[in-house]
Amino acid sequence: MIQQLARLVEVSVTLNSTLDPDQLLHFIIEKAAELLDCEAASIMLYDEKRDQLYFTAATGTDSEKLVEIPVPLEGSIAGTIFRENKPLVINEVEKDPRHYNQVGEQVKFQPHSLLGVPMRIRDKTTGVLEALNKRKGDFTDMDVRMLSVIASQAAVAIHNANLVQALQHAYDELSRIDKIKSDFIAIASHELRTPLGVILGYATFLQEEAQGEMSEHASAVLNSALRLRSLVEAMTNMNMLRLGSVKLDMQPVILQKAIQCALEEVSLAFESKRQSVALSMPGTSLVVSGDEEKLRLVFVNLLDNAMRFSPEDSRITIRTQVVKDEAKVEIQDEGIGIPPSELENIFKEFYQVEDHMTRRYGGLGLGLAIARSVVELHRGHIWAESDGPGKGSMFVVVFPNQSG
Ligand code: ADP
Repeated sequence: MIQQLARLVEVSVTLNSTLDPDQLLHFIIEKAAELLDCEAASIMLYDEKRDQLYFTAATGTDSEKLVEIPVPLEGSIAGTIFRENKPLVINEVEKDPRHYNQVGEQVKFQPHSLLGVPMRIRDKTTGVLEALNKRKGDFTDMDVRMLSVIASQAAVAIHNANLVQALQHAYDELSRIDKIKSDFIAIASHELRTPLGVILGYATFLQEEAQGEMSEHASAVLNSALRLRSLVEAMTNMNMLRLGSVKLDMQPVILQKAIQCALEEVSLAFESKRQSVALSMPGTSLVVSGDEEKLRLVFVNLLDNAMRFSPEDSRITIRTQVVKDEAKVEIQDEGIGIPPSELENIFKEFYQVEDHMTRRYGGLGLGLAIARSVVELHRGHIWAESDGPGKGSMFVVVFPNQSG
């Protein structure tokens, strides 16, 4: 008896640590048959949609055939155990009117004696576990208790394994969809680049040649095409960062210089909104180890946001300083601000605080995700601070300081 209990404990431990549903089912029936000294064992689970039981696993001859065979709730022994929700011992199965002999015929296995117990999770019966043809003597009370213990543990283990499998399927499906998205972005941005190059080329040419009103029209085309190019570039950059295929050309970079380059790139947009820029940068150069082009992109994205999310005639302040062993850059605006709950979300891909439907500020929701990826590749950190809507925002970037 002690030996049997020890075996039972071993079975529970394995049940709780197996997550592969097939392996689990086979383990349960094998151990149930072995512990009760029976010829075979089987599990029938309840199918809610069809309101019937079906074989999920069985030992013994032709067990494969058994799997998926339906067993009605009425007119079968397993159905009775399920409905009445209590163990049942039958010593002469052939003589029992509830015996559902279709199964035996299909798999050429004749049950003579049978012990069946319901499988339950809390108050819900989920199936039936049966041990068949005890080799010596009749089923005992001890057998009933042992099989009941196995059944209750098995029900939970099967439930967990199914959940894990469903989660794995959902994860696989998400990965597949994510790959489709990445491929689509890669193809779309690649295909857009060629016609865009042509538009940019001709618009530049037209702008130089045209006079008066025509020149204004050409500028409008050129500006829109430039905006389109930066959107396409954002998509390409994000994709490459996500796929880890971005190569950094690392060298000592003077942060003030990268910021000045970025400022030049957005200066026209600042001017068009009559926004001023206040610079507070120390005379000594702040040097970080980085890819100049990629760092410039970080500041272009932050400055472009400061411009877009701030009103006309407002001021944007840029501060750089060394704090302990870090080089720190702050870009502060007097714009629409960010609610506290959104301060982290805005760094997610395609995330925008404003509803996509209103689209007052344009953009793809990629600028900050790109900025964070690039900053992190440089072993730095980036975050946003704001006192809330209408109170302006401040973006802070820190890098390990390399200046002497
Ligand atoms: P995009 O600007 O193209 O929407 P970003 O990733 O650059 O994408 O920004 C994501 C979102 O973060 C923006 O849509 C906006 O809601 C918010 N945001 C970014 N910068 C600022 C800012 N300076 N002031 C207020 N909100 C901002």
